Amino acid sequence: MGELAYLNGNYMPIECAKIPVEDRGLQFGDSLYEVIRLYGGAPFRAGGHLERMRAGARVVGLPEDCIDVLPEVVEELARRSGFGDAFVYIQVTRGVCPRIHAFPSGLQPTVIGTVRPFDRLPEELYVEGATAYAEPDIRWGRRDVKATTLLPNILAATRVARKGGYDAVLVEEDGTITEGTVSNLFAVIDGILRTHPVGERILSGITRAAVIEAASNKGVEVLEESFRIQDLDRATELFFTNTYCEVLPVVRVDDHVVGEGAPGPVSRTLLEGFRDIVRRETGSA
Ligand code: PMP
Repeated sequence: MGELAYLNGNYMPIECAKIPVEDRGLQFGDSLYEVIRLYGGAPFRAGGHLERMRAGARVVGLPEDCIDVLPEVVEELARRSGFGDAFVYIQVTRGVCPRIHAFPSGLQPTVIGTVRPFDRLPEELYVEGATAYAEPDIRWGRRDVKATTLLPNILAATRVARKGGYDAVLVEEDGTITEGTVSNLFAVIDGILRTHPVGERILSGITRAAVIEAASNKGVEVLEESFRIQDLDRATELFFTNTYCEVLPVVRVDDHVVGEGAPGPVSRTLLEGFRDIVRRETGSA
């Protein structure tokens, strides 16, 4: 049927969905969001995305009942659109009120959903690997909450994009690598696959968890332990994971060439293993 939106109980063509200018999602980024991938029209792990949103709602004090409608919204957007490879975007904002930082109680949240098809990343990128650039991680302290306060991410992502990179490798003051601006990171260092542990310093990626499962299925050991920018000298592989790129090898960070400068066997195996899981759960990949 085409690009659709859901807004506060109603489905409509995407261009008909309008938000009041005093929506707190617009004015403060006072909202939560999720992006759910459709494979052959089937949502991949919508339950995990919605649980993450529910956990975020508890942290920021959004009423959880506005999330109860979302499983049906995701299914309906998938069904009504008829799209195969697509993203369902959902957002719940605190609602509309005269602009004031401290939010009043009793606001009615704005509940938004959209569905859009997309083109997959070019196959060459998987074959040749992507480039990344290091950026200081200046985001707020509760990165586990998928909030729309995204300015630091946007600034870093824009700088990287202008330099022709795929995403940033975000680095804390002590050199610890946390994640990307839109992705989690894994590295093979001294022969061991490592990724930052979940907690308040990274977003607990749905893809990250599935990749850890894929590693276990393939007999690859994963250590959930952070690593530093200096450790990349000893890394033979590095890759991003997220809902869009799945498992994307990184062959360069700034001027540093990772390993042999080509995608390695672990990232290849885990991309396959991840797609096996997707195929099992959605019938498509
Ligand atoms: N970290 C950040 C900061 C992100 O924005 C994303 C994308 N949502 C991820 C990690 C990866 O999460 P997922 O695998 O659920 O897409």
